[in-house]
Amino acid sequence: MHIPVRTCIGCGTRKSKYELIRLVLAGAEGVIVDYQQRRPGRGAYLCFKSECLLEMKKRRGLDRAFRLKVSPENYAKIETELMALLQKSKLESLLGFAAKARKLAIGSEAVKQAVSRNKAKLIIIAQDATENTQRQIKYLCEKQKIPWVYYGTKNSLGSLLGKTEVVVIAVIDPIFAQNIAKLWED
Ligand SMILES: [Zn+2]
Repeated sequence: MHIPVRTCIGCGTRKSKYELIRLVLAGAEGVIVDYQQRRPGRGAYLCFKSECLLEMKKRRGLDRAFRLKVSPENYAKIETELMALLQKSKLESLLGFAAKARKLAIGSEAVKQAVSRNKAKLIIIAQDATENTQRQIKYLCEKQKIPWVYYGTKNSLGSLLGKTEVVVIAVIDPIFAQNIAKLWED
């Protein structure tokens, strides 16, 4: 089977085009991310890694790929979009690993128990949790000095963990908690 190969404009590595993110020049919109790899026109490819994204920006990789001057706003827009996506995919894979390793307390009751036993290291609250739940959890976190973040919705957290809805998660392992908290830095 023939697999089309493309070069990452960040690190210069050649890979199957399906392992790369495609960027395309879309007229007045400028350069945009072509997730489906279907937009007509000249494409440029990038590994799905923050290093390659930063290298691309530093070397003005889009200017070279499209042979024109791409605006700083356009670079910034692509960077913001892909960084958000990278953060999401890292968080989801970390949560997946933590769940398999049984290092999560899932749901309000389990989280409250983990907190009272001093086991919760980081708490993740669904953005659409009720006001009441948010208030209760944040109160516990402040009292016990546990860091917390908002992420996703009850449904998206649920589907990540193979359940219908999940309102709140406590990470009960310090290493997983550290790695997850890092995603919110800078
Ligand atoms: Zn690369």
